[in-house]
Amino acid sequence: MSECLFCKIIKGEIPATKIFEDEKVIGFKDLKPQAKIHHLFIHKEHTKNLNDLIATDPSQASEILSAISRYADQEKLVEPGYRVVTNIGPHAGQTVFHTHFHLLAGEGRGHFGS
Ligand code: 5GP
Ligand code: ZN
Repeated sequence: MSECLFCKIIKGEIPATKIFEDEKVIGFKDLKPQAKIHHLFIHKEHTKNLNDLIATDPSQASEILSAISRYADQEKLVEPGYRVVTNIGPHAGQTVFHTHFHLLAGEGRGHFGS
């Protein structure tokens, strides 16, 4: 999937500010942050959304969520709280079709605030 934006970020063909990397997953700053802390976590294997990922290799979901959890522990985000969001399809506002999880933190607001 050489034309996929996030695959290009994985390959280093497009610059991104990486904040996390392990063998399977990378995390990087969102270009247009919608919270004080707004990062994106993606698997190095391309799938287009969570449903495609689960159909392809469900272990990728725990690899991404484990990466997010470890990052949140490391950055001490668990106690103040943070949010994880993944958009699936156009009605949810998905604009990049490489499965990604948003990590949002530092908002100072509660459930489903927008
Ligand atoms: P979606 O709307 O698909 O759930 O989220 C896509 C996210 O990717 C958006 O929050 C958008 O700001 C971010 N984004 C789009 N293009 C780039 C890019 O080239 N670099 C980075 N770091 N983020 C991007
Ligand atoms: Zn991709």
